[in-house]
Amino acid sequence: MNVYDSERMSEALGGQGYVDTQTPENADMILLNTCHIREKAAEKVYSELGRFKGLKAAKPDLKIGVAGCVAQAEGAEIIRRQPMVDLVVGPQSYHRLPDMEAQVQTGIRVLDTDFPEETKFDRLAKRPKAMRGPTAFLTVQEGCDKFCTFCVVPYTRGVEVSRPAERVLAEARDLVDRGVREITLLGQNVNAYHGAGPDGADWSLARLIWALDEIDGLERIRFITSHPNDMSDDLIAAHGECARLMPYLHLPVQSGSDKILKQMNRGHTAESYVRLIERIRAARPDILLSGDFIVGFPEETEADFQDTLDLISEVRYGHAYSFKYSARPGTPAAERVQVDADQANDRLQCLQALIRRQQRDIQDTMVGRELSVLFEKPGRKTGQMVGKSEYMHAVHVEDETLARGDIAPVRIVASVSNSLSGERI
Ligand code: SAH
Ligand code: SF4
Repeated sequence: MNVYDSERMSEALGGQGYVDTQTPENADMILLNTCHIREKAAEKVYSELGRFKGLKAAKPDLKIGVAGCVAQAEGAEIIRRQPMVDLVVGPQSYHRLPDMEAQVQTGIRVLDTDFPEETKFDRLAKRPKAMRGPTAFLTVQEGCDKFCTFCVVPYTRGVEVSRPAERVLAEARDLVDRGVREITLLGQNVNAYHGAGPDGADWSLARLIWALDEIDGLERIRFITSHPNDMSDDLIAAHGECARLMPYLHLPVQSGSDKILKQMNRGHTAESYVRLIERIRAARPDILLSGDFIVGFPEETEADFQDTLDLISEVRYGHAYSFKYSARPGTPAAERVQVDADQANDRLQCLQALIRRQQRDIQDTMVGRELSVLFEKPGRKTGQMVGKSEYMHAVHVEDETLARGDIAPVRIVASVSNSLSGERI
């Protein structure tokens, strides 16, 4: 979502005459878009700011801003403790950037971490009509009301808000007009989507996906990230019935221990999650599953951790993100007895080794199969293109005639460490 937000911020400032640069030395303004989900991500902000000190000394007119969830959570402190920072803007105020920029130019330091009444989506600049790469993100929902006890999202991104369906569809049509063939719908809790439909009813995510399915030229639809409790029947059915909805689902479970799931306030059990996966696989047997796991949550015992490994063995993941629990200020779990850091590290290594084996096994089953690949960019070798299969595997193909944005059938001939290689059929 920060990638999507950064594009929107860049567009908003485009109206003030700004253009993107890849070189900090050339910049008149540097906006750090930040993440607060784990301590490590938040700490990075301060080390990055340190790197920009020299730049600001050499070029006093350089404006430095901090955006994103660290800005939301620690904005006042940033303004107090980082005199080099001119601007702090939280995730719900990006549409006000042009006004803030004007203020900053007069030497005023700006802090805006409001949750304004008007939604930023209505006010953000329209995307300029430039052509784009074949894949794009599109935010449909933001924020979360679930309050898992480890998570800062409900505090930094705010309550759940869904964009009206017609706005999403218009943005999708515009993206397709500019060359996009695959859209990934985004939300912290994307499958809780319930945006107002043009017919006056609230649309579910499945209903939105079926409407996107009617857009000519949009070939692939994905969505991320989902909560198990919001996997509604119509969304499960769509996985079996909507050909453009890709057979890949990221469905975090966090832990396989019911005791820990309860303490996390997840609202589901390991068993109910496994049953849900069975229903999803009944609708779409070849679906590739991905997940998120937290190890070392407060009071997690070896037996709890073993439950997580057992769940992973039962589900079989093609991909997963896994994290060591990070105590976040203001969240309930941060107050509890913490697990020893070495022990948490050992568990993370062990879990990641299991996931790697499953990932590799599933990737290896692709050899000999015919997959459909959306080509995104040239590979390292000349004449080589890299794309993604329906299942999100990176696929390398050597074929001079392939162009960016092509979707072509490919016979998979080899599975190497992190990707597949194949021949165009
Ligand atoms: N809404 C999604 C997840 C959004 S946050 C869901 O409910 O699953 C993305 C991931 O970051 C989470 O799935 C979780 O695995 C991880 N995460 C969030 N807070 C964390 C924390 N305090 N420590 C470690 N990992 C965390
Ligand atoms: Fe965080 Fe996801 Fe839980 Fe919401 S559902 S609080 S975003 S982990």
